[in-house]
Amino acid sequence: MEHNFINEKEIFESIENAQKADKAMINDILQKARELKGLSLTETAALLMTKDPEDIASIFETATWIKDEIYGNRIVLFAPLYVTNLCGNICDYCAFRADNKELERITLSKEQLIEETKIISDSGHKRALLVYGEHPSFKINNVIESIETVYAVKHNDEQAIRRININAAPMSVDDFKALKETGIGTYQCFQETYHYDTYKKVHLAGLKTNYEYRLHALHRAQKAGIDDVAVGVLFGLYEPIFEVLAMLQHCFELEREFDVGPHTVSFPRIEPALGSDMSIHPPYEIDDQLFKQIVAVTRLAIPYTGMIISTRENPKMRAELIDLGVSQISAGSKTSPGGYHEAKANIPRKQQFLIGDERSLDEVINDLIVRNKHMPSFCTSCYRKGRTGHKFMTLAKPGNIKNFCQPNAILTFMEYLQQFGSEETKINGIKLITDELATIENEILKAAVKEGLERLTAGETDIYF
Ligand code: SAM
Ligand code: SF4
Repeated sequence: MEHNFINEKEIFESIENAQKADKAMINDILQKARELKGLSLTETAALLMTKDPEDIASIFETATWIKDEIYGNRIVLFAPLYVTNLCGNICDYCAFRADNKELERITLSKEQLIEETKIISDSGHKRALLVYGEHPSFKINNVIESIETVYAVKHNDEQAIRRININAAPMSVDDFKALKETGIGTYQCFQETYHYDTYKKVHLAGLKTNYEYRLHALHRAQKAGIDDVAVGVLFGLYEPIFEVLAMLQHCFELEREFDVGPHTVSFPRIEPALGSDMSIHPPYEIDDQLFKQIVAVTRLAIPYTGMIISTRENPKMRAELIDLGVSQISAGSKTSPGGYHEAKANIPRKQQFLIGDERSLDEVINDLIVRNKHMPSFCTSCYRKGRTGHKFMTLAKPGNIKNFCQPNAILTFMEYLQQFGSEETKINGIKLITDELATIENEILKAAVKEGLERLTAGETDIYF
């Protein structure tokens, strides 16, 4: 059996040691964080536990600084696409749980999948996150077929979706190898809770009850050659400081074994879900203030990891989290299979969980520009150019990735504005692009981006470095 490398004793000792942290120690940790080498468990715990408003303000400032150092001011956008809500597991918090009789079970047909993809890409998205329940009747070949179907959809004669990431149940190495052949970007699998007893308590039946098998999912993906993998905790199930430290242990373990940590980390908080009483009153509900602190401290602890916030959070919270180091967000999302078609046709349907941000992609983008002064990005370049896994990290660590992120954000955003932007977003967006161009110091790079913009204006598409 795969071993449980989450060392609960070490986590509790780190939390205890962190209780001794005084102001001077907090300042030292913040100083160290600016070296971009990450933090230890005890240092992370100290920053998570401080309640001093001055300390918290300094943590937030440091997180903003680090995000800017590594990625610049770009925010990558994506849309989730739910393929099936069929599920054989009973996860206490989820609407897709097998015993939920209120939920209509839907697995999208090829035609429905094509329609969902078209609606997403007609709004301007280039990245989709395909999401699946876990059911014995929905096998790896069904997953592969769904990916191939989405990749084959065209928008104006071009591939509509340029990068697919997936959130699916753990697989065997052989199935991951088959999955890799489809050309996915990142494979996501959230442990939900790293606390063993809690995990056993909330996963009541089905394949997901196996803690160790899930814990090693990303190891197996790496062994199969999928080198962009993603972690996450479902906040609300157990004590949040424990969860962040355990997630760090997971990251360190991946780094030790594969020389590369996770590509991204997601921060789902439990939202009310149909047919789940526990989702209405999660046992460890975390308030907005602590949530912001968790996001900011994670930016300090694992500085090179992309950080994702979904539409579970409301617009105000999302705007605040973006300033604290988030690098990717979903937008214009629907969280049920067929949800995009139903919204377009005004058919009411309950989603997987309540969405906190109902705005369209264009509204989210305009807000990103006006409120956050951030550059929306539809870039899919790294994975298409082979900058994945270890190669990505060797660029990110000396601070070089933003030399790709910034030009690619400018070019893909201009492409969005030309094809999909509303009048208001176009005006604000073009001003932002002009201001951003002026910040590029390297004259050769600046000339290349200008040339790319001219080619886009002349009607070319899909220009990237
Ligand atoms: N079945 C796969 C699995 O469990 O890994 C993937 C699909 S599952 C719907 C994707 C994620 O949704 C889960 O990993 C969990 O973190 C999240 N989720 C489930 N119930 C939720 C809820 N009530 N609120 C917020 N997120 C939830
Ligand atoms: Fe199924 Fe995943 Fe929901 Fe659990 S979290 S019930 S495995 S869809």
